[in-house]
Amino acid sequence: AKRVYLFNEGSKDDRDLLGGKGANLCEMTTLGLPVPFGFIITTPTCREFFEAGNKLPPLLEQEYRVALDLVEKKMGARFGDPENPLLFSVRSGAPVSMPGMMDTILNLGLNDDIAEGLAKKTDNPRFAYDCYRRFIQMFANVVLEADGEQFEHEIERYKEQHNKPLDTDMTAEDWQAVIATFKTLVNFPEDPFVQLKMAVEAVFLSWHTPRAYVYREMNNISETLGTAVNVQAMVYGNFGDTSGSGVAFTRNPSTGEHEFFGEFLFNAAGEDVVAGTRTPLPLESLRERLPEVYDELYRTQALLEKHYRDMQDLEFTVQEGRFYMLQTRSGKRTGRASVKIAVDMVNEGMISESEALMRVSPEHVEAFLHPMVDQAAKTDIVATGLPASPGGATGKVVFSADEAVQVAAGGDKVVLVRRETTPEDIHGMKVAEGILTELGGMTSHAAVVARGMGVCAITGCGSLKINYAEGTATTSGGVVIKRGDVITLDGTAGDVMLGDIPKTEASSSDDFQTLLSWADKHRRLKVRANAETPEDAAKARELGAEGIGLCRTEHMFFEAERIDLMRAMILSESKDERQGYLDQLLNFQRDDMLELFKVMDGLPVTVRLLDPPLHEFLPHDEAEIEALAKRIGKSAEKIRDIVKDLAEVNPMLGFRGCRLSVVYPEITEMQVKAIISAAVAAIEAGHKPLPEIMIPLVVNVREIRLVSAIIDRGIRAVLAEKKISVPYKIGTMMETPRATLGADRLAGEVEFMSFGTNDLTQMTYGFSRDDAGKFIPQYLEKKLIEADPFVSLDQRAVGRLMEMAVSESRARKPGIKYGICGEHGGDPRSIQFCHDLGLDYVSCSPFRVPVARIAAAQAKV
Ligand code: PEP
Ligand code: MG
Repeated sequence: AKRVYLFNEGSKDDRDLLGGKGANLCEMTTLGLPVPFGFIITTPTCREFFEAGNKLPPLLEQEYRVALDLVEKKMGARFGDPENPLLFSVRSGAPVSMPGMMDTILNLGLNDDIAEGLAKKTDNPRFAYDCYRRFIQMFANVVLEADGEQFEHEIERYKEQHNKPLDTDMTAEDWQAVIATFKTLVNFPEDPFVQLKMAVEAVFLSWHTPRAYVYREMNNISETLGTAVNVQAMVYGNFGDTSGSGVAFTRNPSTGEHEFFGEFLFNAAGEDVVAGTRTPLPLESLRERLPEVYDELYRTQALLEKHYRDMQDLEFTVQEGRFYMLQTRSGKRTGRASVKIAVDMVNEGMISESEALMRVSPEHVEAFLHPMVDQAAKTDIVATGLPASPGGATGKVVFSADEAVQVAAGGDKVVLVRRETTPEDIHGMKVAEGILTELGGMTSHAAVVARGMGVCAITGCGSLKINYAEGTATTSGGVVIKRGDVITLDGTAGDVMLGDIPKTEASSSDDFQTLLSWADKHRRLKVRANAETPEDAAKARELGAEGIGLCRTEHMFFEAERIDLMRAMILSESKDERQGYLDQLLNFQRDDMLELFKVMDGLPVTVRLLDPPLHEFLPHDEAEIEALAKRIGKSAEKIRDIVKDLAEVNPMLGFRGCRLSVVYPEITEMQVKAIISAAVAAIEAGHKPLPEIMIPLVVNVREIRLVSAIIDRGIRAVLAEKKISVPYKIGTMMETPRATLGADRLAGEVEFMSFGTNDLTQMTYGFSRDDAGKFIPQYLEKKLIEADPFVSLDQRAVGRLMEMAVSESRARKPGIKYGICGEHGGDPRSIQFCHDLGLDYVSCSPFRVPVARIAAAQAKV
């Protein structure tokens, strides 16, 4: 197969083959934009390279030399020719964008002779030798894997020795001297074709750098994709005052406003903008100084956005007043921006509603659910930087990623403060509440990564001087922030404050509501919430829940004033004594249920019968036992005995769920009476309760029959005295492998079934829910599992059990209602699976409800 493509031989649809960057370069070339010409080595070639034990295919060089000839013709210069040199940039480009994770080499093709030639041709020796020394540094770093620090040291040493504090003080001769020293540090290949071949290999190998692994893992990118190599003619932003480099977004990536937005550095190479070592100027300055270039840029961005029908992130260079497009791609954006842009583009007629839904990642939705610094409560702003990623964050100051991980592991919230960030800092950024950098613009590494993670960040906070050695950050006003101090960031405004400033709860927006209404229109799956308190239920309803899919009744008994009654009930020594306490518990249970029915008026409320082992309610330490003994008038001796009696070796597989109903039917009867009398009270108060009673942890039909009989008894006891009908349903949970394997028979006995995938995962794997945290990180690291099965549903095995359960029970009882209420009900990937499985609803925690609504719509679109 063809391994090398020229920029005019591909299109944006060739991402898999040419990588995202390459496909876009082809597309822009075809659109007639001024793209420096070049060629692409395909991603399958990368896989060939790995399969051959990191060796390039034998014919590859021949193939790209043919392409190279054509690039030379088009650019009117020759690779390796000192008279008229052509230089290349060599970059990676995977099918999925991996910003900053892979390596780039610029100015490839220089050696002593060619640098001299370039100096002559451009009549700018200083520029030529600056390019040359940059190339050697990059090549040494990326290809030869030399320590980059030694080169910087060498430059510093030279500058000091010759009293030239600034880069701009360095002449061509100075750089030549530095280059001579550089060459003693590494084994630098002079032959441009050798350089090119080594660079191609290095790009392929960079697929396997640790930081690339981390990025792929965080973003669920497949390890086997591989990367393409883009080889492109160089143009120069560092050619003088009518040159420069910039980045731009067709819309504001923070707010989503429809305004052209970007940054520019005069007389600078592209990497100067991205690295964030100099703080760039707004595009306005380009418009003032080079109006024609600005106009061309403006026309180009409009054209590209229209063409790609999405917000674009552009990289461009100006060489001596000539405009070149280097890159365009869909721009990273905040959650708020993502929603605004999607909704605006529908309103502008650019995309459809279903496309808009696909543009918003479920994680983006959470931006509407993030805390924000309370503007009224803001005090003592000690520094202000760029509002790089919105939201509010408070935490202890740390100055390195490792420190961030360490302090966060101790349970403290941290704010990571750095001069700038690099991909090496990712692990620290992941655990930080907020990120603050001294340098860098809105498009710096810190800004882009934080925005993608949805972490609050402030960049370019130049009024802050950071001293790593002392562990301090000093503001221009002289305030010294020390390691461990608590600060608050307002990433939306760019303000840094001392102490813990109050934050308001996340707020919605009209655009967000519009998008959610589209999601509701397009999805099939219903979304319910797991909630037991009226407050949580109200929040869930406000966020769009269509009922409660799991009310864990035991949570209601853990409440302070009820727990003693519950304990006394468990510790009862006779049926009569127990019944006395149950009667009191019934009142509490009924009142709680009534509140829930009111909040969920007209929507189903699935109430699960008591599930946990009874000893969970009892105190275990001696002091607490003594105290309880006094409070409930029982001997401590007796309590101790019963606690010992109820203790289990393996409580998660123990005396819980419907097993409790079998031994203590009176508890179940009490719960049912409470539910039904609450429903009656709700009806009498003019509400429409829809109780669904759910039996947990069943393994066979006989259990269901037995518990159903108890439930019936409870219901009849309440309704016998009332001339009222309550529309209740009885259902069961699918939590044990045995239940799923006999689901058809269970279905015959109930009206609905709900997957408790927490327990089902536990029992399918034999991984204890409560202990798996000790080894799952290792399992992930050693790639024994792809994802934590307690977070994202294991589709292969647990999913297979679910599939069998659904299809067999529906064969027996067509259309029987099926839901899921394990944690997976709020996980987007699992939601997709549940949709495909034909479930009727997912149930998740209240704050996940909007995420689930979007994910359910995406599953359908
Ligand atoms: C489950 O097991 O998935 C479930 C929802 O029940 P719990 O988490 O309460 O055991
Ligand atoms: Mg369970």
